[in-house]
Amino acid sequence: MKKITILGSTGSIGINTLSIIQKNPNLFKVIALVANKNVTVMLHQCELFTPDWVAMRDEKSANILRKQIKRKKIKTQVLSGEKDICYLAALKETDQVVAAIVGMAALLPILSAIYAGKTILLANKESLITCGSLFMKALLSSGARILPIDSEHNAIFQVLPLEMQKNIGVSSLKLYGVEHILLTGSGGPFYNFSVSDLSCVTPHQACSHPNWSMGKKISVDSATMMNKGLEYVEARWLFNASKSEIKILIHPESVVHSMVQYCDGSLLAQLSVPDIKISISYAMSWPYRIDTKVNFLNFAKIKNLSFFEPDFVQFPCLKLAIDAFSDSQAAMIVLNAANEIAVSAFLNNQITFTQIYEVNINTLTSSFFSEPNCIEDVLEIDRQSRILAKNKILTY
Ligand code: NDP
Repeated sequence: MKKITILGSTGSIGINTLSIIQKNPNLFKVIALVANKNVTVMLHQCELFTPDWVAMRDEKSANILRKQIKRKKIKTQVLSGEKDICYLAALKETDQVVAAIVGMAALLPILSAIYAGKTILLANKESLITCGSLFMKALLSSGARILPIDSEHNAIFQVLPLEMQKNIGVSSLKLYGVEHILLTGSGGPFYNFSVSDLSCVTPHQACSHPNWSMGKKISVDSATMMNKGLEYVEARWLFNASKSEIKILIHPESVVHSMVQYCDGSLLAQLSVPDIKISISYAMSWPYRIDTKVNFLNFAKIKNLSFFEPDFVQFPCLKLAIDAFSDSQAAMIVLNAANEIAVSAFLNNQITFTQIYEVNINTLTSSFFSEPNCIEDVLEIDRQSRILAKNKILTY
């Protein structure tokens, strides 16, 4: 039985992970759950899974949860704050840590899990985007392992040879005959909108992804295609890939979740209905597979599978991420921070959809940071970039 800690259990990835555990009680046991403020969902999860520990980032929420847990006589210890979350990420008794806290708040807990040599089921994007080289180095020296949860990276992972899966982040793609990786993306809800149509789309429209059900931040990132840019960066780190070894393809049907082109002409792909439970369950059960109760693909009903080159004019955020990664790690941290601020401002109706790109590029071009040497440097660049981005938004 695998013992699991879920960082971000009340979110979309966390809830899907728990639903897999609920269907496979002989294979997985929940040891610890972590969230920020959502006491209602956390209390319900404690009732269902009786973890040994939970931690809420927010102290007030932890206090409320503590009282409710006591009243319901649940035997779960409630902790709070970042230090306690890092402690739970490194618990001796845990085998797997699901990293599904959204944003930069996940960095220190993930690093704590890496130092403790855990197997990390990685959903959080910011960790590799902002700390790619630091995290990969820490991973090598601690013996920790990363298994990707994001559907595209999980798809690529699934069609790579087992030896490469065991040495993720360090194996040479060339050595195993990989010519290049084809990272696919649906194009989001607006892939067939004109550039002028994009200026007046609403947060509700941007959050209504045609194929996937996800949290708000990642849904808006899918709509700007910043998400594909961030995934490109993650894929570069995860698969130790050079610029020419990753290509991006728009595939609106979201049936093919990415592909690997081998040098002998073979193209291996992972196909399924778009359900994140498939990726999560493969990471949880790797290198084996378990029944997810997800519908199988029905090829007779698939009328069309289409693929297009991405349009960088329509989706400039995608190009911005690719270029920022080529530029420097510092540039990636700035872009990630600016984008988080810009997406949040868009969701609060402070800026328009197309102004997300403007905030991003203006923050990038007005920032000059040297390369980070440690996690504290990363957090400082992030902090200053957020201030810069907020100041840009004030001028709109
Ligand atoms: P959600 O917004 O649905 O959930 C985020 C989770 O993080 C919640 O449990 C939230 O707790 C918790 N959280 C937020 N801030 C903190 C904090 N400071 N400390 C501790 N916990 C915190 O996000 P998703 O589940 O959609 O995504 C999680 C991550 O996975 C993101 O980085 C996303 O980009 C990535 N991802 C998501 C995919 C998806 O299909 N959803 C696919 C691939 C990657 P609370 O509820 O209390 O606020």
